[in-house]
Amino acid sequence: MSTTSTRVLDNYVGGAWTPSAVTERLDVTNPATGDVLASVPLSSAAELDAAVAAARGALPAWRAVSVPDRARLLFGLRERLAARADELARSVTTEMGKTLPDARAEVARMIEMVETACAVPQTMQGRIIEDVARNVDCETVRQPVGVCAAIVPFNFPAMVPFWFLPFAIACGNAFVLKPSEQVPLTQQIAFEALDELGLPPGVVNLVNGGREIVEAICDHPGIDAVSFVGSAPVARLVYERAAKAGKRVQALGGAKNHMIVMPDAVVDRTVEGILGSAFGAAGQRCMAGSVVVTVGDAHEALRDRLVSAARELRVGDGMEEGVDVGPLVSESACERVTGYVERAASRGARVLLDGRGAGPEGGAFVGPTVIELDGTDDELWRDEVFGPVLSLLRVDTLDDAIGVVSASRFGNGVSIFTESGSAARRVRHEVEAGMVGVNIGVAAPVAFFPFSGWNDSFLGDLHAHGTDAVEFYTRKKTITTRWLSSGESGRFFVE
Ligand code: NAD
Repeated sequence: MSTTSTRVLDNYVGGAWTPSAVTERLDVTNPATGDVLASVPLSSAAELDAAVAAARGALPAWRAVSVPDRARLLFGLRERLAARADELARSVTTEMGKTLPDARAEVARMIEMVETACAVPQTMQGRIIEDVARNVDCETVRQPVGVCAAIVPFNFPAMVPFWFLPFAIACGNAFVLKPSEQVPLTQQIAFEALDELGLPPGVVNLVNGGREIVEAICDHPGIDAVSFVGSAPVARLVYERAAKAGKRVQALGGAKNHMIVMPDAVVDRTVEGILGSAFGAAGQRCMAGSVVVTVGDAHEALRDRLVSAARELRVGDGMEEGVDVGPLVSESACERVTGYVERAASRGARVLLDGRGAGPEGGAFVGPTVIELDGTDDELWRDEVFGPVLSLLRVDTLDDAIGVVSASRFGNGVSIFTESGSAARRVRHEVEAGMVGVNIGVAAPVAFFPFSGWNDSFLGDLHAHGTDAVEFYTRKKTITTRWLSSGESGRFFVE
């Protein structure tokens, strides 16, 4: 319960911290303790209007800043974020729950996004070819799209907003961020760093809120492009609604990631990789491995070692040293996840490790849970559980394993653990997924490569960050030129 002394979060609009006028707010809680950290306003559509107006107003001044100077401002942002990296990581752990080492790794990836965006004088270059006809040259230049918005989920409060923000502004766009209302605190720190840069007012804006702001972003005539990251149903809603309003959209959705284990896998290292993937961040990663598909003898070699290693993981407040698995983000997430375990147990599934009731009192804890499935006709195979619940499924051959993976409606990440190059090659070549790990449990985002899933895990064309970011955040303009005093031009260009 919030009290009169609870901090109420501001929006950041037109270069100034701006209190929201609404009285409807949500408590932001520390999921490890239940303590209220702040109160976040559910801003109104009129408040989004003000942010979009500020962003549109900033476009001419921002476009007039040279590309190298825009990159230099990002150097400054990089330094400011690096100086506050520990504060950012502590904020992530406090509001979202993942362990502090995991939060530090997230912040390192956030900063790497800014470093990568600094390459904009190279990456934003166009193309030219001389003499498309005699004495006629043709070139393509890249120009900003305009006002770009991002709507982001709870599970990476620092990194996911930075899949978009640094690339958007590097390319000369203005930007509006709607953080997750469950974890709005970390972006307050990021925007304090942005505020110190001296950007033209309105280049970056932060509007706290929930569904009303998301819908208003999709419909807003002043917004040109929308990036969404979150669950699959909301990704579809945002994709369809924003595209209908004529916007450029990329919508990254939920996942159900499989990890194939071959009989020749290096068992100890495979167990380590699976544990990190399935139980890191308490299973609340879009790249979390949630089904292990063992091929042939791999099942016997792996199963008991995996279960006993998972049993050893320490569940607790992610801020404490030695804790491996922090809480889920909220009590309601806890209820959803334990519901899956309860139903599996009542169906008679083999619950090899039951994490219900783990962890200290007062927090939203579920411990590592391992359940053996008999086939894919099970909600634990179909649904994204988004918690520390790992399913094991045995198949006979690599063909069967690839069949299981391909039958999923999602296509975010797939990993294979093997020492066989040909097995790995088949998986990377054949699976319907956007990210593949070979002896890597979490094929995590690397700033200078594009990142996204396929199928129900992604709607759109251009993936997040890497080379796709400049494609998404620029419009191409093709210019054909001749100089009449320089002689005859080819017949094709005779009007
Ligand atoms: P979510 O879909 O509940 O929320 C995401 C955003 O959408 C939030 O900002 C929220 O305010 C808004 N939102 C929620 N419900 C809405 C509705 N009905 N209408 C309009 N807006 C709505 O997702 P979450 O629980 O915050 O995050 C977890 C999900 O995100 C998981 O499914 C996870 O796989 C996914 N995710 C995917 C990726 C990826 O790269 N594909 C990365 C991170 C997280």
